[in-house]
Amino acid sequence: MNTLLKDRNILIMGIANKWSIAWAIAQVFKKAGARLAFSYQGEKSLRSLEKLIDDWEEKPLLVECDVTKDEDIQRLFEKVKEGFGTLHGVVHSIAHAKKEELEGLYLDTSREGYLLAQNISVYSLVAVSKYAKPLMTEGGSIVTLTYLGGERVVKNYNVMGVAKSALDSSIRYLAADLGKDNIRVNGVSAAPIKTLAAKGVRGFTDMLKGFEEKTPLKRLIQPEEVANTALFLCSPLSSGITGEIIHVDGGYNILGY
Ligand code: NAP
Repeated sequence: MNTLLKDRNILIMGIANKWSIAWAIAQVFKKAGARLAFSYQGEKSLRSLEKLIDDWEEKPLLVECDVTKDEDIQRLFEKVKEGFGTLHGVVHSIAHAKKEELEGLYLDTSREGYLLAQNISVYSLVAVSKYAKPLMTEGGSIVTLTYLGGERVVKNYNVMGVAKSALDSSIRYLAADLGKDNIRVNGVSAAPIKTLAAKGVRGFTDMLKGFEEKTPLKRLIQPEEVANTALFLCSPLSSGITGEIIHVDGGYNILGY
């Protein structure tokens, strides 16, 4: 237990189930004293969420939001305003691409698949930041989840790698726009972690094995380790940091072999 997020109102987007990185973040933020709101997409995620928070004394605010719909994003932030008034943090843990485009050649990416991946995985951060800004009257922190596949070619990551490059760049542009409002925008570049989204990438299990063997720490990274870095980025401990991407990958990104 710590008090890093005491009296902080934080919206977490992208909990689908108990394996979601966003769920690890939610638990770490709760322990740090945050007041939480969760956005979810669809009935299935709502049912998972309700089960996950069943024994929570203080229930988080739950709001449905499909990030491809502007009206959903607008409604989400109206609900957050009604519930909290002021918002101090947003965790954006959302990405999606067609399964058939997470294998084979990037060359074969369809226009539709490209736009879908960019819309859900990148533009959503821009739209969410725009709606969050008026609620962050005391300053704030926006954190998104990214991956090394946006910096280097990772087999089968294809259209999502290109989306992560655009996401990384959006972090910097948004940080430059929002800095004067004392709103910080940062990313956590997570190691491969077995989640629903990750399992959509062909050969993911082999990727995990290769990662464990190669990465300097010689072990897999736990979702809680990613969550602790998100906590740092949403807390006053990181008050001087914006536009940054922190790798939580056991040092994998430093390797040239
Ligand atoms: P996850 O549990 O499947 O989370 C992805 C989330 O995105 C789900 O909650 C999903 O909701 C949501 N989502 C997809 N389309 C949406 C839409 N149109 N509107 C609203 N929400 C939507 O997988 P995860 O691995 O934790 O992914 C979270 C983030 O971490 C992603 O940005 C991912 O790229 C990043 N990341 C993951 C890894 C890894 O290895 N797992 C590594 C680095 C970065 P539904 O399931 O209800 O559609």
